[in-house]
Amino acid sequence: MSRARSPRHAPGDAPRDTPAQRTFAARPGRREARRRAGRPRAAALALAGLLAALPAGPTAKAAGAAAGLCGDARLRGRALDPIEAPGRCGVPEPVRVERADGVALLEPIVVNCRTARAFADWIARTRAHARRLGFDLAAVRPSGSYQCRPLYGRPGARLSEHAAGNAVDVAAFVLSDGRVILVRRHWGRGVAGRFLRGAWRAGCASFGTTLGPEHDAPHADHFHLDVRAHEGPPVCR
Ligand SMILES: [Zn+2]
Repeated sequence: MSRARSPRHAPGDAPRDTPAQRTFAARPGRREARRRAGRPRAAALALAGLLAALPAGPTAKAAGAAAGLCGDARLRGRALDPIEAPGRCGVPEPVRVERADGVALLEPIVVNCRTARAFADWIARTRAHARRLGFDLAAVRPSGSYQCRPLYGRPGARLSEHAAGNAVDVAAFVLSDGRVILVRRHWGRGVAGRFLRGAWRAGCASFGTTLGPEHDAPHADHFHLDVRAHEGPPVCR
């Protein structure tokens, strides 16, 4: 059903008009759409503008798009040079992921391959969950990936998993009809909240650690997902 509402785009198509965001409307929608009219390139980075570049359909595949990063055909992006940084920060073999399992990343993430593959698993599970709710997931908006910093940015704390390319933060999800679901705004609220709960649970099935709004205040606006191995079951809260 939802497929009928999600026309696919071949790369290079002119951006299609983005419908005004409905139901889960987030304020930037209309403004970004207007900016896009005047500044198509800049707007390609904007939430609404990016909808135009959503899932690469069969055309892109037929054209022989790259076979996938990290040995995973669901991942699109490119390998980067090693990231060297002071102390224990850095990533020996980083990749920049731009699309996972047909879902666009509104900000590319820089992570190691293990994290990239876990991310593709998570997207696949989250898409399936979305479909069960009648949603067609088109894009996610990460809010963090590689960064050399201590936990919570607190001086003296141990290094965050972000500092090793092991972690991704995700703040928002965009459906193919333009609706935006924000962790900050929709957690615990209605059908969008049910979608978020399922996405959080999918994190628990895909990553070693999944933290969301019920963990603590700093996670009120995003999910933290990392591949750190723990004794026993994944950390999921
Ligand atoms: Zn994080």
